[in-house]
Amino acid sequence: MNRTIRVRFAPSPTGYLHLGGARTAIFNWLFARHHRGSFILRIEDTDKSRSTEESIREITESLRWLGLDWDEGPYRQTDRMEIYRREAQRLLDEKKAYYCYCTPEELEERRKRALEEGRMPKYDGRCRDRTEPRKGVKPVIRLKVDQEGETVVQDVIKGEVVYPNAQLDDFILVRSDGTPTYNFAVVVDDTLMEISHVIRGDDHLNNTPKQIQLYRAFGYKPPVFAHVPMILGPDRARLSKRHGATSVLAYREEGYLPEALLNFLVRLGWSHGDQEIFSKEELIQYFSLEHVGKSPAVYNPEKLLWLNAHYISTGDTRRLSHLLVPFLIEGGLIPKGKIPDMDWLCRVVETLKERAKTLKEMAQMAAFYFKAPTEYDPKGTERFLTPEVLPYFQSLVCKLEAMGHFEEEEVKAAFEAVMRKHSIKLKHLAQPCRVALTGKTVSPGIFEVITVLGRRETIERLKRAINFIRARL
Ligand code: GLU
Repeated sequence: MNRTIRVRFAPSPTGYLHLGGARTAIFNWLFARHHRGSFILRIEDTDKSRSTEESIREITESLRWLGLDWDEGPYRQTDRMEIYRREAQRLLDEKKAYYCYCTPEELEERRKRALEEGRMPKYDGRCRDRTEPRKGVKPVIRLKVDQEGETVVQDVIKGEVVYPNAQLDDFILVRSDGTPTYNFAVVVDDTLMEISHVIRGDDHLNNTPKQIQLYRAFGYKPPVFAHVPMILGPDRARLSKRHGATSVLAYREEGYLPEALLNFLVRLGWSHGDQEIFSKEELIQYFSLEHVGKSPAVYNPEKLLWLNAHYISTGDTRRLSHLLVPFLIEGGLIPKGKIPDMDWLCRVVETLKERAKTLKEMAQMAAFYFKAPTEYDPKGTERFLTPEVLPYFQSLVCKLEAMGHFEEEEVKAAFEAVMRKHSIKLKHLAQPCRVALTGKTVSPGIFEVITVLGRRETIERLKRAINFIRARL
């Protein structure tokens, strides 16, 4: 096994990159990086009616966001039409493939009849030995598939999977409009791109015996196959939109970090002992196909949230602050186009990173730093914004105004002075302050909140709360 490792991710650009596709890409990427091989991106866009540029952009952006860099490509199958034509011609010349002139109507008719008669519908090979073209019919090209014996797929994950050849028919390689079919293009490309391992979803397992027959017809050596089980939703049905977001970029919009989604997806189907949290370097070091499970993995959104919270709480504050900006703009907390004071934003994030599970949630939690509360939590008002706190607030305002340094230690000292003066405990002051400053009954630590808000803003908000309480008297 001293062959150079070359793997590919080969999406059809007919939509966004969904979680299943992303996981396939990740497994390929990790396998390549582990073996110091190459990871190739190939866009399978021969179905022109369903492929879009928008989808190609979305897929490449998703891969970049996840940090999956490719060494070659993106190749596009539509740029390789000449190659497919050449390869098809070779099979025709060698009599391993043939033109078929059966019309779609005829095929449909025969299919129906087979079903009525309880036979498995498959192409009956009637054009195999045809030499004359048929007027007015544009032919397809079919492979002469070996009908005897069986085709064995040796799969790294599934083990040995045996297909009786009688089940296979002479499948189409080139459509009547000259475009190659998936099975044909994929074998040509995987061969010419010298792909050593094909790692893909097990929805393609049933295509593999056809592809093996095609490798044989060409005289090419097939790659090693590894078919990864599907991802299931919590209800054990195949993961789909109704289980929530399935596009990678939707997770970015919901405030997930790429490393959290990456870690989450890798663990859907692959394991390394009991370890749950992996750095990228660890994943590269540990990844192997042998530890990809045989049974489908179940998508668990709580676990993703847990991982995201972990990566937020341990993440670099400055990076998180930059990532938070779009969420603040979206929440109307900072104007678009205006660069916020990043040092101050870092302090905001520092107070929230242990609490927020997503960046979106962090932006919501951060709202009070940007906007004074326009209303107070009703329960908090009843319990804490009572007339008896008026003198406490007034003393605190005086202390804060007189303070030199406006740091946590000094704020704490100011609180203690007020507590002593009125013979009250911290909670008698801290909770009312919290409601006055944030509008809510839960927030980061009160001293942090005050130092981040700053002296002027804190005093202003306390005064506003004083007026609010007075107005209610
Ligand atoms: N274009 C195929 C897909 O998106 C690729 C299958 C393969 O990896 O062979 O499903």
